[in-house]
Amino acid sequence: MTTSPARVPAGNASDGGRPRVVIIGSGFGGLFAAKALAKAPIDITLIGKTSHHLFQPLLYQVATGILSEGEIAPATREVLRHQKNVATVLGEVVDIDVAARTVTSTILGRTTVYPYDELIVAAGAGQSYFGNDQFAEFAPGMKSIDDALELRGRIFGAFELAELATDQAEIDRLLTFVVVGAGPTGVEMAGQIAELARRTLKRDFRRINPGSARIVLLDGAPAVLPSFGEKLGDRARRQLNRIGVEVQLGAMVTNVDADGIDVKDTDGQVRRINAATKIWAAGVQASELGRMLGEQTGAEVDRAGRISVQPDLTLPGHPEIHVVGDMMALNKLPGVAQVAIQGGRYAAEQIKRRLAGKQPKGEFQYFDKGSMATISRFSAVAEIGKLKFEGFIAWVLWLVVHVMYIVGFKSRTTTIFHWLISFLGRGRSQRVATQQQVYGRLALEHLGPGWEASKTGGPKDPVPEDEDVTNRESA
Ligand SMILES: Cc1cc2nc3c(=O)[nH]c(=O)nc-3n(C[C@H](O)[C@H](O)[C@H](O)COP(=O)(O)OP(=O)(O)OC[C@H]3O[C@@H](n4cnc5c(N)ncnc54)[C@H](O)[C@@H]3O)c2cc1C
Repeated sequence: MTTSPARVPAGNASDGGRPRVVIIGSGFGGLFAAKALAKAPIDITLIGKTSHHLFQPLLYQVATGILSEGEIAPATREVLRHQKNVATVLGEVVDIDVAARTVTSTILGRTTVYPYDELIVAAGAGQSYFGNDQFAEFAPGMKSIDDALELRGRIFGAFELAELATDQAEIDRLLTFVVVGAGPTGVEMAGQIAELARRTLKRDFRRINPGSARIVLLDGAPAVLPSFGEKLGDRARRQLNRIGVEVQLGAMVTNVDADGIDVKDTDGQVRRINAATKIWAAGVQASELGRMLGEQTGAEVDRAGRISVQPDLTLPGHPEIHVVGDMMALNKLPGVAQVAIQGGRYAAEQIKRRLAGKQPKGEFQYFDKGSMATISRFSAVAEIGKLKFEGFIAWVLWLVVHVMYIVGFKSRTTTIFHWLISFLGRGRSQRVATQQQVYGRLALEHLGPGWEASKTGGPKDPVPEDEDVTNRESA
C-alpha cells in the first residue's frame, strides 16, 4: 500500500505473503462479505466512504425522530473489532485499475493505493433525480445519515415556522409535506410524517394544529408499492388514506423549487402544490465505480449505472473482481438488502475456494425471503413467498425481521427501547434538529471541494508536481 502526500504506515501490507482482499463499501454487501471471510488466512482491507455501516431501511425513522443515527449506523471498526484479518479504513475510492490490480482511495487530500489479489466491489447506489439534479437542493433524498438528519431538521423546522407564521397561506405551505415516490421508502416516510403530525405533535403547539398537516405521496406510476403486486398495493393505499395521506398516482414531477412542486397529471395538465418540505424517494443511481469497471472490462453498464456481472458475480475475464449488491445487474434481481447480503457471502465463499485451490461454487442463487413495508404503527404489508400479509400481523413480521438484522447488541437493545416509546406511547426521543444539519450541505457545496481539506488538516507536505500520487509503479 502506498499513501501520498501524507504517508502513513501500511494498513494492509501483506508481510507474510498472505493473499490481499480489498472490499469497497461497508454496507450490507461489503460488511457481510468481510464477516464471511473471518476465518480465512488472508489480509482484508475494507475501504468505506463513511466510518459506519448504515442500516438504510430504518433511515426514515431517523428522519422522523424515532431513532438516533447511532442506532442504525454502528462504527464499522467496532463491528469488526474481533476479526483480526481485517483492517477497516476510511476513504472514498476514486480509481480502480484492473490491469495493475490496485484500488485508489482519498480522504481529505490523502491518497492511498491498495494492491489486491481479490476485489469485492460493494459501493451501492445513490439517489437519482432522473437528470434533474437541481431538484436535490429543495427535495433531499434518503440515502445517508446526512440526508436523514437534514430531513429531520426540515420536517420539525416546518412545524416551528408554521407556529410563527401569521398568513394562512404560508401556514398551509409550511404544513404541506410532499413525498415523491410510492415505493417502500416513500410509503414508510409518508406514513411516519402523518403519525408525527397527528399523534406525536398533537399537543405541542399553541397556535397551529399539527394534525391539519397535509401529507401528499405522489408517483408517476399508477400504483403504490408496485413490486408488492396489485392486491397489497391497493391495501397499502387504503391504509395510507385512513391515516390521512393523500396518494396521487400518475403524477410526474416537472419542477421543484423552494416554495413547492409542479406536477403533470396523466391528462397533461400541470398543477402546483405549495409545500415547504419535499422529500425525494424515487430512483437510484449505482456508484460511479460501476461505469469505471465497465470501461476497463467491457462489462455492460445499464442506465441506472449497474454493471452486468457473470452468473458467479465476477466480471468477464476477471475472476478476481466480484461485484455485489445494488451496483450489480443480474437476472433483474432487485436492489434490496438480501441480494447484497447473499451476494457478499457468495463472493466470500468463492474467494475462499479459489485461494484453497478448490472447485468454484455453482452460479449465484438468490433466495427471496420476501418483502415488507410499514405504513404506520401496528400496520404494514408483507409478502413472503406466495403468502401475503397485511395489518398487525405484517407489522409484527416487519418488527421481528428488522430486529434480527440490526447490527450489534447495543443498537438492537436501544432500538427496541425507542420503539416502545414511540409505538406504545406518543413520544419520539430524537427530535433535535440543528441549523447546521439543515444548511450544512448547501454551505459545503457553496464553499467548494478544496475547502474541506484546507480546514481539516489536509495534506501538509505539498505533492511534487511530477509525482504520481497513485504511485502505481511501486504499488
Ligand atoms: C431509505 C431506504 C430504505 C430501504 N429499505 C429497504 C428495505 O426495507 N428492505 C430491503 O431489503 N432493502 C431496503 N433498501 C435497500 C437496501 O438498503 C440496499 O439494497 C442495500 O443497502 C444494498 O447494499 P449494498 O452493500 O449494495 O450498498 P450499501 O448498503 O448502499 O453500501 C454501499 C457502501 O459503499 C460505500 N461507498 C460508496 N461509494 C464508495 C466509494 N467510492 N468508496 C468507498 N466506499 C464507498 C458507502 O458509504 C456504503 O458504505 C432501502 C434503501 C434505502 C435507501
